[in-house]
Amino acid sequence: MKLKLHWQIIICMIFGTLAGLYFNNFGNDSFLYTFIILLGDIFIRLLKMVIVPLIFTSIVIGISSIKNRTKMGRLGLKTFLYYISTSLIAILIGLFLANTIQPGIGAANIESIEAFDTSKLTSSTSILDILKRMIPTNPIKAFANGDMLGTIFFALFFGITLGSINAKSSLPILNFINSLYQIIMKMTQVIIMLAPIGVFGLITKAISNMGLSIFKELGLYALTIASGLTIHLFIVLPLILFLFVRVNPIVHFRAIASAMVTAFSTSSSSATLPVTMDCVKDKVKASNEVTSFVLPMGATINMDGTALYECAGVLFIAQALGIPLDASQQFIVVITALLASIGAAGIPSAGLVMLFIVTDAVGLQSDAVAIWVGSMLAIDRPLDMFRTMVNISSDSVGAAVIAKSEGEKLY
Ligand code: ASP
Repeated sequence: MKLKLHWQIIICMIFGTLAGLYFNNFGNDSFLYTFIILLGDIFIRLLKMVIVPLIFTSIVIGISSIKNRTKMGRLGLKTFLYYISTSLIAILIGLFLANTIQPGIGAANIESIEAFDTSKLTSSTSILDILKRMIPTNPIKAFANGDMLGTIFFALFFGITLGSINAKSSLPILNFINSLYQIIMKMTQVIIMLAPIGVFGLITKAISNMGLSIFKELGLYALTIASGLTIHLFIVLPLILFLFVRVNPIVHFRAIASAMVTAFSTSSSSATLPVTMDCVKDKVKASNEVTSFVLPMGATINMDGTALYECAGVLFIAQALGIPLDASQQFIVVITALLASIGAAGIPSAGLVMLFIVTDAVGLQSDAVAIWVGSMLAIDRPLDMFRTMVNISSDSVGAAVIAKSEGEKLY
């Protein structure tokens, strides 16, 4: 029987830890060490390679499904408001917890960060400045430079316009981008299958550089993320159900239980989508119209768990690097975490790849960042399972809220 990916990753983590400890004790100037480190670097490069096409195609496909008719417009507005507000609530929970628990403090004296040049930090003077930076003067250049904000902005605008022009003109492009999306998704999945090898390299590198103290720091980080996800799943979403749908949250969670379990075990909102749709249509009893409008787009762009994770994760990295982010930089983190969660594909570990968007946006660009992200990858699977469950739960709550607001009789 073939071992499940997360078991493979966990086993490789253990071997990586052992190898890292070995190199930490006996020196790391051998060819073998260089080769193992290369494996981790290659894996990170592969992940980075697919970011731009993945964001572009998944946003265009999600957004272009909104058609510009009155009801569609209304549904679109409500859905959009729901997505944005729940993601923002999640981000603020992450922001609050990361600032109060401060999981990264104490990791600041590891030697690998000494060379970090804090003057490279991007600071923003105003919201207008951030908005301006989002608009690329040349989209191709934005793609080529890996300018995420520019890419996301162009994709949103492109997707909205694509959905509004007549079918005869839009269909060829839509089909093309859809095929591209499928291909890139597949490529990403193949890359993620390499995760055990990549994790082995990354963990070896992290442990050989830092020793075992890394797990102490990451334990608190994992706890911070898990607490945030728990608050969102068990307090915020039930409150929304209670206030806007007037239903006992337990009734709702029972209705979507199989989708939650599927999300937890696949770590993929996209893979879970058929199950989510089935639960929401069959048990929540939302109309076909609302279900097929809210859920597929939700699986691509509404990711509360991922949003919370992006924000808390980047604050953790900044703390670990000993670089406190001021209010305006934290504001950039909030906005880019929102965008990154929108841009993250509904596949395993997509959120982790997106961390680079947020770190880049505040100017955290150094090898030390990659090392921290690499170490976070090592313990990402359980967190990914949890946040994916939160992601699809929020989608289903959104469908219930919107169906209710359209006067549908539910449950
Ligand atoms: N795996 C998550 C999802 O599919 C995305 C993420 O990595 O945060 O929803």
